[in-house]
Amino acid sequence: MYRSRLTLTLVLLLGFIASDALAISSRQLAKIDVQAADSTANDAVNATPVATPPPVQIGPESLQAKVLPTPPTVVNEANFIARPTPTPAPIVAPPAAPAAQPAVQPSSGGSSDCGYGEVLTPYRGYGDWYRTLLDLRYMVPADYRPSDLVPVTDSGARTGTYGVSYARSLTMPDLTALVNAVRDAGFGQLQINTAFRDYAMQTSFWNSYRNGGGGLTYPTTLPPGHSEHQLGTTFDFNVYAAAGLNSWMTNNAWKYGFVKSFPPGRNAEHCIGSEDWHYRYLGRDMASNVMNSGLTIRGYLLRLLP
Ligand SMILES: [Zn+2]
Repeated sequence: MYRSRLTLTLVLLLGFIASDALAISSRQLAKIDVQAADSTANDAVNATPVATPPPVQIGPESLQAKVLPTPPTVVNEANFIARPTPTPAPIVAPPAAPAAQPAVQPSSGGSSDCGYGEVLTPYRGYGDWYRTLLDLRYMVPADYRPSDLVPVTDSGARTGTYGVSYARSLTMPDLTALVNAVRDAGFGQLQINTAFRDYAMQTSFWNSYRNGGGGLTYPTTLPPGHSEHQLGTTFDFNVYAAAGLNSWMTNNAWKYGFVKSFPPGRNAEHCIGSEDWHYRYLGRDMASNVMNSGLTIRGYLLRLLP
């Protein structure tokens, strides 16, 4: 009886150990299965192609992309028009040597004299806008800035890629009439690339021109203080926006008070490179007088000087 009871105990004990061993074995197998599954999952993730960032380039090509564009060789209003924010500081420091700048010659002030000068123009009050002479010799002060500037879009004109320009409010009635006439003639909505430019912006413009070499027989820009854009009555129209618009403007804009300041073929009279797009508002009566005189705006205003 004792033996059989002992045998039974042994059998039970062996059975318990065996079942426990089996249980452990099952848990271990299950754990291994989970690990295997995780491993498989990880492999699946790892097997998926992951976009890796391109290697950082530190060679000349990557540097090249960050270099600011160099100023155009020849700067004029067609490729350097209005920027929404004036940038007084030139990107490149002006050359120290004056040899890189256009020759500045003393001017006697005659109509055929295209020499540079720094002479305050005689009629420079804000009420003198129609007779303020500006050229390579005559200038307005740096702080000349009319107080009645309004967005040119008030006239119904559209702006260029440089944003909204401003002009004196006294130009708006006739500018609106011009915009309407252009539209009625079939040329669409007149575009104004730039109007008022302050002294600082013109300084940047002039420095870019000089750094581009300058020195043309007739410059394609004017020194700061000498630009008609500082008057707030001068507009650069996109006369190339539609076929025939340039011709139409040449023949008709003056009827609304706007005269082309630097017409082609008459450089010796206005001393500037030709600019088909640059119109100055003179008022209808004076614009008519200038056209009838056969003179450029400069030639006409020279005769008005005291
Ligand atoms: Zn202009």
